[in-house]
Amino acid sequence: MEDIVSLAKRRGFVYPGSEIYGGLANSWDYGPLGTELKNNIKQLWWKRFVHQRDDMTGIDAALIMNPKVWEASRHLENFSDPLIECKNCHDRFRFAHMSEDVVCPTCGKKGRWTNPKQFNLMLKTFLGSAEEQANVAYFRPETAQAMFVDFKQVLDTTRKKLPFGIAQIGKAFRNEITPGNFIFRTREFEQMEIEYFVREADWKESFEEWRSQMWSWMTDTLGLKKEHIHELEVPDGKRAHYSKRTIDFEYDYPFGTKELYGLAYRGDFDLKNHFKEAPPYRDAETNELFYPHVIEPTWGVDRSVLAVLCDAYAEEEGRVVLKLRPHLAPYKAAVFPLLANKPELVAKAKEIHSALKMHFAVAWDHRGNIGKRYFAQDEIGTPWCVTVDFQTLEDNTVTVRDRDTLKQERIKATELASHIAGKLGEV
Ligand code: ATP
Repeated sequence: MEDIVSLAKRRGFVYPGSEIYGGLANSWDYGPLGTELKNNIKQLWWKRFVHQRDDMTGIDAALIMNPKVWEASRHLENFSDPLIECKNCHDRFRFAHMSEDVVCPTCGKKGRWTNPKQFNLMLKTFLGSAEEQANVAYFRPETAQAMFVDFKQVLDTTRKKLPFGIAQIGKAFRNEITPGNFIFRTREFEQMEIEYFVREADWKESFEEWRSQMWSWMTDTLGLKKEHIHELEVPDGKRAHYSKRTIDFEYDYPFGTKELYGLAYRGDFDLKNHFKEAPPYRDAETNELFYPHVIEPTWGVDRSVLAVLCDAYAEEEGRVVLKLRPHLAPYKAAVFPLLANKPELVAKAKEIHSALKMHFAVAWDHRGNIGKRYFAQDEIGTPWCVTVDFQTLEDNTVTVRDRDTLKQERIKATELASHIAGKLGEV
């Protein structure tokens, strides 16, 4: 884990947040490469689950919603974790993570704890200038509720018919008691969520469909190794009271096997809470009004980035290499002039770099020797390195070196973009 955190910082994937002010515990900033990787993940998700399907549509709702939303969803009442306090140093911990006689991780004293007390995870703020009860609002703890609250408006504007889903990507906030493990658990994070609406009779079939979609996303799109992913059937008593079935997808992070994503059958709980007066869906043929049932697949964006980095990280043949699937890589290619002090090579390489940039994110490097430049690109997962040499000036061909096979091939500069596009299409 230390290697990954240090690579992430050194190469600009993820930095500690507010670092020049001594940081802010468990806050992280995505640097230039991390932003590219994260955006690639989000764009692939949107393409796969919204654009490529006829039964999906997307929204982008406000982060701060009317507090009545959280009353109806029972978040204000129930969205809490039990916490216990060390009687010696008064530090607080999640009860689920501790046993009664455990030594306090902060002060090292043994077993003197208060009884567990519920702690609400909603992040509170005040709207307007007066900090009074009437102005209390909350940052959303999940993106899900907006899909229920906007259900009717989406229906009216899109004319979707069951089964269909609403997708959203966005930030969520939770006042976590024990954040930690790098970007695994933070108080501000991003989610990609789908609320998929079905008739009650169809929930099992839909659940299975989303289960296989999630597997395919993890293994085919993100390229995570199958053996690093485990399904956990959440047993009775541990599921939300309205859920008849929930699966957690767990990943083998270096710090343990923990939740990556979730899949839950939520029944009609949410729509019933928000549309108390009358059911929001009318069957076009029978005219019957009813509450659709909901399958909710949910993906953490930051945990996706973390799992991808962990899975892709390798040390081999004296180099560190991020074996990212090419469509996830921050740069699809890097362009180098063989020698930095030959203006004609630099000019030709710049020309090729500019042309390629019209198609993909492309890096440029002219420092040090070629071997070092390859290593620098391997470390950030760039799949192909393009070198412009003296032969290029004669016949307009370049060498393309592959990150994984280390093989080099000679390609016409005019065919470079379609060559790389072809390779991206293959993987
Ligand atoms: P956990 O048990 O780890 O607290 P959860 O079951 O409460 O997670 P959900 O409410 O199901 O999580 O949220 C959906 C997804 O959002 C999770 O699967 C995870 O990927 C992501 N997520 C939840 N909480 C956090 C957090 N504090 N930091 C980063 N990602 C999070």
